[in-house]
Amino acid sequence: MLMRSLKILVTMLCALGVFAVTAQAQPFTLEPLPYASDALEPYIDKMTMEIHHGMHHQAYVNNLNAQVKNFPELEGMSLESLMARISTFNAAVRNNGGGHYNHDLFWKIMAPAGQGGEPSAELLKAITGAFGSLEEMKKQFNQAAAARFGSGWAWVIVTAEKKLAVTSTANQDNPLMDVAEVKGTPILGVDVWEHAYYLSYQNRRGAYLNFWWDVVNWNEVNRRFAEALQ
Ligand code: MN
Repeated sequence: MLMRSLKILVTMLCALGVFAVTAQAQPFTLEPLPYASDALEPYIDKMTMEIHHGMHHQAYVNNLNAQVKNFPELEGMSLESLMARISTFNAAVRNNGGGHYNHDLFWKIMAPAGQGGEPSAELLKAITGAFGSLEEMKKQFNQAAAARFGSGWAWVIVTAEKKLAVTSTANQDNPLMDVAEVKGTPILGVDVWEHAYYLSYQNRRGAYLNFWWDVVNWNEVNRRFAEALQ
């Protein structure tokens, strides 16, 4: 009888939010992959996707949420706003906030081979204007990705002048960050951390980069390009 009364009391107090103060705010969440974890095979294997999304990306989200106690303003802040003022935060927010933004983009700009569509006429025109051809853009992008020493990303961005450019960043930085050497809105990006390719490709980053184009989701890249022009 006493136990039952205690349980009812605890339930009531929980409902009133009395114990809620002990719970940490978790404003950042990991979205599920937009396709099955084996959907990008054979180009990106299932185990790589499961570890990369479920463990690496989840850790960036958890570690970013753990910083909310130090920076309450993170709650309710969009990732884009956070990137624009990343220099006012600590290294943990920079690394994990960047990691969360970058991977969220990465999953979305990929699709199973044959399902990603093609560059739109508008995007192709901009690519031709900036690089001469799509093949040349891929070449410059792969060179930037291959030349990134250690861990990082290569990007295609829309600059402030609304032009396309290829750039790369170290670690989990990205071109939206106020600390980026080359700034712009990323519409395409590839993860060249070893965790992104090592199980299938080992040290052959170049092979991973060549095959990776087969799983680019051009439909999403087109959408991001149009949005960045607005
Ligand atoms: Mn990664």
